[in-house]
Amino acid sequence: MYDKPNTSTARLLQSAQHAATVLLVEDSEDEAHLLYAELMARGFNMDYTRVQSRQEMSHALDAHQWDLIISDHVMPGFDSLSALETLRTSGKDIPFIIYSGSIPDDLGHHAMLCGVGDVVRKGNVDHLLPVLHREIRGARARLSAREADNRLQTIISTDTLSGLPNLSRFCALIDANCDDDNEPHGALLYIDIDRFMRINQSFGYQAGDALLTMIARRLGECVECNATLGRLNADRFGLYLPSATDHAAAHTMANWVLKAFDMPFKHDSYELWLTPSIGIAMLPDDGENALELIAHAESAMTVVKRQGGNAICFFQPELNVGTTERMALETDLRYAIDRQELEVLYQPCLDTTRRIVGVEALMRWNHPLRGPIPPTRFLPIAEEIGLIVELGEWVLYQACSQLRTWQLMGLEQLTLSVNVSAVQFSQPRIVTTVHRVLKETGVNPANLILELTESVLMQDAGSTISMLRSLKNLGVRIAMDDFGTGYSSLAYLKRFPIDLLKIDRSFVQELPGNDEDAAIVRAVMALASSLQLQVVAEGVETEDQYQFLSSEGCNRFQGHLFSPALNAAKLAEMAVDVRMGCVRRQYSMLH
Ligand code: C2E
Ligand code: CA
Ligand code: CA
Repeated sequence: MYDKPNTSTARLLQSAQHAATVLLVEDSEDEAHLLYAELMARGFNMDYTRVQSRQEMSHALDAHQWDLIISDHVMPGFDSLSALETLRTSGKDIPFIIYSGSIPDDLGHHAMLCGVGDVVRKGNVDHLLPVLHREIRGARARLSAREADNRLQTIISTDTLSGLPNLSRFCALIDANCDDDNEPHGALLYIDIDRFMRINQSFGYQAGDALLTMIARRLGECVECNATLGRLNADRFGLYLPSATDHAAAHTMANWVLKAFDMPFKHDSYELWLTPSIGIAMLPDDGENALELIAHAESAMTVVKRQGGNAICFFQPELNVGTTERMALETDLRYAIDRQELEVLYQPCLDTTRRIVGVEALMRWNHPLRGPIPPTRFLPIAEEIGLIVELGEWVLYQACSQLRTWQLMGLEQLTLSVNVSAVQFSQPRIVTTVHRVLKETGVNPANLILELTESVLMQDAGSTISMLRSLKNLGVRIAMDDFGTGYSSLAYLKRFPIDLLKIDRSFVQELPGNDEDAAIVRAVMALASSLQLQVVAEGVETEDQYQFLSSEGCNRFQGHLFSPALNAAKLAEMAVDVRMGCVRRQYSMLH
């Protein structure tokens, strides 16, 4: 049992603003009250509770926050050193003063070595008073240092932009969860926002940051409350779902995340559509701690990325083999230009008279050990590691030099199409690069066509249009490649200053039998004619396809029906052959 000061005193104390809360460890109520009265008389404003056993003291320590403990030395069944031990067990930092008439000096010294703030002879209140003030000050200083430290910990473990735990905190939270639970289960999602770099480049970093904050908020809203969300770096988020104990549950929850991106993000007057790539690692099968899980979920995420993003992939041990191979390819690719392993092939583009009117430059990588590697395999790697810009410039230069050679050979009208990747297009230097290459190779800009995929053009209409204008000011033409595979509506096309449309192979493949594809092609042709765009059909493989397309008004064709991509020598041979018919033999003999 422990008692409170009498009610009138208590009221008085409650009204006092900074009354120190004191826990008195004292068996005599009279002594307690005497001390209280003497201290109050000297202006020490306090509120106290008296305890006299270990049990009472523990209870009081749990129940309240105390500024001070003043302990008698000897009590029935309890003493000051046991009281000190009780305080230690509670883990609290409260100044502890022994106020006793009977403690021997050596025990007093020993007590001070054990953490007692001071030992004061009972009755010596004038000595006790400054000790109490000093100890309270010391404790407050320690408290504010601890609070500052906690704040600092929060700051350094929180991502300031999103307010989410950063990588190290995220790991610590997951690891704590893994340690706490005897049989920890759950799923770790690694979420990367597709093509986020474009946002920063088009709208600036401030807008990028604002979007990341919106994404963080949306991710937080779409998951259950026991989930842990963190920002791992840049546009990458981690999400730990302890209740996703099997693949099916993890898949369902990952789908919620995908769905959260079904609505556009608003920036100024723009509506931006973003998609995530999600890799999942399961606990405990795919890793026993946060770092293992994150690494494995990340490698699953890169698989999604390579397949175009906006999807979910679970980690499989074989993925790591792929990663190793990919890393080897990455290294080799860095040297591919210097080692002359890259080659440009040219696929002819024909008109309705089946004359070659142009060529499309298509890159090939002849790997010394792995053989030919298709562009669909190595270009995404080049995009990711930033090598695409260099590769793109190399192709442009090679192809333009080649075109100039052909023109000097008499193929003056031949046009050249060069593919421009998203990353390349996002860099303003493309304009100066194209300008420089045209100048250095002497190619007439009117003969150069830059092919951009529909998805690149659609990313952000405002900055795209001004970039296209700058390119067109150089005199080159612009083609929208793979038309139909992205998200553009036909109406959208009007906004872009483009010259050509390339109907994607997927719409050509099932012509003329597929009614839906036939209707799409008809609609595209009608719109193109009203916008005065030239249409090129890609991937024409059969005579039927060709006939249907030309009957619908298409007058440019590419595809295996005519020719695959050829090396420069073979292409020239074919072009001259078609143009001059019988001259072919003589031309071959000359070369
Ligand atoms: P794309 O620009 O749509 O190029 C057409 C692709 O279709 C080429 O594949 C071509 O060989 C193939 N093709 C042409 N006719 C037919 C056909 O009748 N049937 C079938 N099945 N396929 C046909 P390729 O050369 O493998 O290139 C794939 C993609 O890689 C290209 O698609 C383009 O997006 C990209 N690419 C190629 N070279 C470059 C380059 O130098 N720079 C950039 N940025 N991208 C490139
Ligand atoms: Ca193309
Ligand atoms: Ca294409």
